[in-house]
Amino acid sequence: MSLHGEYDPQNIFAQIIRGEAPCYKLYEDDDVLAFLDLFPQAFGHTLVIPKRAAARNLLEIDADALCKLMRVTQRLTQVLVDELQPDGVQVAQFNGAPAGQTVFHLHMHIIPRLAGQGLGIHAANQAEPAELEELQARLVKRISG
Ligand code: 5GP
Repeated sequence: MSLHGEYDPQNIFAQIIRGEAPCYKLYEDDDVLAFLDLFPQAFGHTLVIPKRAAARNLLEIDADALCKLMRVTQRLTQVLVDELQPDGVQVAQFNGAPAGQTVFHLHMHIIPRLAGQGLGIHAANQAEPAELEELQARLVKRISG
């Protein structure tokens, strides 16, 4: 899908927002939802999405909603750094399939990075549920602590 087109309300993130599909939720408020990536490219790979905006990409969200998304993205980046102590952290966002986007609901990736460890393949290998559950518990404790 290119940059141009219609928002599909059946995309997986829209289903997660409506509670029709499960997720390993880390944080939620009226405007923003954050959860673990099911196919992490590194341990701790987190996604942050706007809940109200039917925005496929960065160009389709209003500035106020984008600010709310980025505020939570920054906060959760700090949480991941504090809890997992990575050597670096990648914050990324893709617009359109040619740029690497595979789910067409705007989202921010937060990916903790370890020195000398390459990035896993994008959206390829599903993590073990037990690993995601344990990580979710650690991060939620730190977020609410
Ligand atoms: P994009 O390629 O659009 O930038 O990123 C989409 C991300 O969503 C990928 O990192 C992929 O692993 C993740 N993803 C795809 N389907 C699901 C799902 O059902 N649940 C979760 N939590 N993540 C998903």
